[in-house]
Formats: sequence, structure tokens, C-alpha cells
Amino acid sequence: MDLQPILDRIGAEMQAAPDRGRVADYIPELARVSTDHFAMAVCTADGQTFTTGAAEMPFSIQSVSKVFTLALALGRLGDQLWSRVGREPSGLAFNSVVQLESEKGIPRNPFINAGALVVTDAILQGHQPREVLGEILRFLREAAGEDDIHINKAVAASELAHGHRNLALAHFMAAHGNLRCPPEATCGTYFHQCAIEMSARQLARAGRFLMNAPGMPRLVAPARTRRINALMMTCGHYDGSGEFAYRVGLPGKSGVGGGILVIAPGRASIAVWSPGLNAQGNSQLGTLAVERLARATGWSVFG
Ligand code: GLN
Repeated sequence: MDLQPILDRIGAEMQAAPDRGRVADYIPELARVSTDHFAMAVCTADGQTFTTGAAEMPFSIQSVSKVFTLALALGRLGDQLWSRVGREPSGLAFNSVVQLESEKGIPRNPFINAGALVVTDAILQGHQPREVLGEILRFLREAAGEDDIHINKAVAASELAHGHRNLALAHFMAAHGNLRCPPEATCGTYFHQCAIEMSARQLARAGRFLMNAPGMPRLVAPARTRRINALMMTCGHYDGSGEFAYRVGLPGKSGVGGGILVIAPGRASIAVWSPGLNAQGNSQLGTLAVERLARATGWSVFG
């Protein structure tokens, strides 16, 4: 299928869109990114890549990194991981603390911050943060098939300087015995994984292993990629997950930098980036753009 005309049309529509959302402003590095940016990249199962907009411009992947750390943690620990983190949508904001109290320090799912901290903590146990960050970068570079993927140190430092809430989540879980490493080490590693920068094209390429198609990188067993996709579908957009499933019909994971990784199983890996966010902290135009792509291609996990 030649997707270029579809992407060109969506790119033009998004450049002209009046309501672009609001950039995340909890750290200055994200607050100063313009909402004018838009990029989309699609890697299809037949090995082609289509792009529109600023598809080579690196952006902060933020919570999209949680998909890759989950894949690593499941690879290392297997199903044991599920004794420490659940698989239910939270229906609450990404950084919410409220459920941790009644649920005894077990986060609802691996994609809210509390759950992602547990996942990072699980990979960190017995290792140095530097080694684990090297492992995360190696995984991403292998998945994308290219080496030019790095951590933005200024973003990581800023996350730490403004990281009270994540540290609070980590300490609260430590109080319940659900953290194995010092909270500062787990948070420090998490802040650096969030500060990884990738272009839309690199992110779409890095997601190819999740589409489960012949000829794609095979970093995780197919049974496991299905599970990761299920979690992306139910929990990948926090309290906006139901709306994303309804509008797009494909599993996706968003980040507060405005990126979204979306998988059309067996068909494509899609990355979209537009920094303006909606009320749930998910890319406003990114969601609209993949909704239009899904409609134009007929891609949906619901048939
Ligand atoms: N670094 C951000 C945080 O932990 C990531 C959140 C996100 O992308 N939704 O607050």
C-alpha cells in the first residue's frame, strides 16, 4: 500500500489545525518546545517507511520509554514481574498517588508512573544505573536498527530537580516493600530513560518488533508482544485510554513530550509527535492524526 498520499494529507491537515493543545510545563526543557511541530512515521510490514513533517527531529520520548523497559523487564523476570505490578487501567492521571494507598504499594499497571518505577526498579536490581541505561539504549538501538539515539542530560537533570512526585511514589512503594533499590537510584534511572530523545522515524522503527510480522526484528517472543499490545490498548493513555481505543482502535503508548507509539498488529508501527497535549496529557494532534490514519487505512484491532 502506498501510504505517502495519506500521510501528506494528514500532515497538511495537522499543520493547519487551530487547536494544538498545551505543552507540558513541569520542566523548562519541555515548556519551551513549540506546538507548531508535527511529525508522523509509519513502518509497514513489507519493510517500507513513510514519513511526513519533522520526522527527523529528535524529541523527548518520556513515557513512551515505558514500553521498552516493560519488554526488557519481562524478558529478564518473566511473569514474576506481575507479583509487583497489576494489569488494570487506573482511570487516573499518569502520576496519581491515590490508588497506592489502598492497594498496598502495588501499582495498577506498568504504564502509570508508579508502575513504570517498579518496572525500572526490577531491571535495576543488582546493577548500576549506568549499566541499565546502557542496556535500555542498546535495546532501542537494536530495535530501531540505528545507533544515533541518546539521553538528553539536561532533561534528566530537570526531571530530578522537579521530581518530588515521582520520588514520593517511589518512597511510598518502598514503604510497602515493593521497591528493591534505593528510591533515588530507581528514580534517577527512570528520569534518564524518560529523557531519551528519538525522531518519529526512529521511534516507528523501534516499535517494529511489536507488530509481530515476518521479517521484523524479533526482540521479544510473539506471545509477549501480544500482551504488551494489550496493555498499551488498555493502559497506554492513562485516563484517556478508553477514548484512544474508541477513536483509534489500535494499541498506543503516549509520552508527555507529545510522542505516541501506535501498533497495527501484523501491519505497521506508527510514531507520531506533536508537543501540544490534551487534558489527559496525551498529544492532541498526535491522537487526531492516528485517528485519521486508522480511518484511511482501515487498520483496527476490532476488525
Ligand atoms: N517524565 C515524566 C514524569 O515522570 C513522564 C510522564 C509522561 O510522559 N506521561 O512525570
